Amino acid sequence: MQVWDAIILGAGCAGLTLVNELIGRGEGQLNILLLEERSEYTNDRTWCFWNTLNHRFENAVSYRWSGWNVHYAGEVVHCRGAYQYQYLRAEHFYKLALAPVYASSKTILRLGEQVRTVQEEEDLVRIQTHQGTHAGRYVIDTRPMDQQNRRATYPDVHWLQHFMGWKVKTECACFQSKQVTLMDFEGRKDAAEILGVSDNETDNALPGIPFIYLLPFSPTEALVESTWFGPKVLPKSVYREQLQRYLQEKGAGNYEIIEEEYGVLPMSTLPTTTQPTRRIRHLGLAGGAARPSTGYAFLAIQRQAQRLADQLLKGDWGNFPDYYSTQSRLLDATFLRVLQQNPQRGPELFWRLFRYANPDALVRFLADTASLKDLWEVTTCLPSGIFLKQSLFPNFSQKKEMETTQIQGV
Ligand SMILES: Cc1cc2nc3c(=O)[nH]c(=O)nc-3n(C[C@H](O)[C@H](O)[C@H](O)COP(=O)(O)OP(=O)(O)OC[C@H]3O[C@@H](n4cnc5c(N)ncnc54)[C@H](O)[C@@H]3O)c2cc1C
Repeated sequence: MQVWDAIILGAGCAGLTLVNELIGRGEGQLNILLLEERSEYTNDRTWCFWNTLNHRFENAVSYRWSGWNVHYAGEVVHCRGAYQYQYLRAEHFYKLALAPVYASSKTILRLGEQVRTVQEEEDLVRIQTHQGTHAGRYVIDTRPMDQQNRRATYPDVHWLQHFMGWKVKTECACFQSKQVTLMDFEGRKDAAEILGVSDNETDNALPGIPFIYLLPFSPTEALVESTWFGPKVLPKSVYREQLQRYLQEKGAGNYEIIEEEYGVLPMSTLPTTTQPTRRIRHLGLAGGAARPSTGYAFLAIQRQAQRLADQLLKGDWGNFPDYYSTQSRLLDATFLRVLQQNPQRGPELFWRLFRYANPDALVRFLADTASLKDLWEVTTCLPSGIFLKQSLFPNFSQKKEMETTQIQGV
């Protein structure tokens, strides 16, 4: 049996990025096998992020915005800085990422092959798929872990960012195409009505923090997403009704849904590990790539794949660092605990960040490239009282057992 230098389990964002980084550093060094359960690639998601890092897929970026806004309590805060907000469609990413894989003589991608078991032995790792067995010296596992059924006990928080997005073409010109709406919190009352709960500011009735995210491409075309930060996913009908109401309130008139996307991402302080065993590394969401306070993962995956490619080619397999700095993890944990304890204050807290922080400092903070000055800029925009209480005395705050159980769809 052929023993591969490395086997990558899952050829999605992380698996394909890693293999592109390896091929981009010069071919002929490692034999790589990629095992992917899907048999074809579709436009299954879109990635957005600020351009704080050079990445290999710049040519696949199809939109760039230099301004963004946040809506809260009848006010709109408009932001603009040195960075652009980029939009990358999965279909373009896959096309660009697959071309070098197919052109390579040392890298083999096996589509439609589902990994069943992974067994580490002294000198190699054996992978059992539904089609046979493969052996590799090292394994990079990017298969997603089940986020919805992870449990957390306070002070850990395991929230989810769950969303449904529609790319729509509207009859009436209703989108302001120059700015992305990162968060529009005005639909809180609609969300409460749809769920049939009382939207009393004091009773924490909503299961999380709902908002609309909007990427405008023209006055009549946009990707609009019903997004929630919270402990559990909702029936799909809830997101759909929120989107319908939002488009109606915007004056969209008739509209056509061109594409739909749905996602559940972790916003979690639960531990993930990048190196579970001697010969196996975790990459992508499986390794903790999603930023705990936001769910953004694309740039962290790019950064981590670049590091791992360097290490693999140097034969330095020993030490694979965490995705995020300790300071980011601590700040995010505090922020998530504050949100969990005070979800009704969430919109105001996000609004304050965008209203008062320097936009570039905030973007660098979100991308985990913040300087100490940036950190000061960002953290001083938040009310110190609740944050100090959570960061200094998390265990004295009210204890909550968080469970993420899925509500059955209607
Ligand atoms: C709809 C959506 C929108 C998102 N938008 C953004 C965004 O705007 N910005 C951002 O930063 N992040 C975003 N993310 C988060 C994150 O960037 C993506 O989820 C990203 O694709 C994660 O990469 P990954 O490689 O870890 O997982 P994936 O890209 O999901 O890749 C995992 C691969 O493993 C394969 N696989 C699973 N099980 C097996 C098995 N048993 N055997 C073989 N193969 C298997 C899957 O088919 C898949 O191809 C979004 C996520 C979703 C779902």
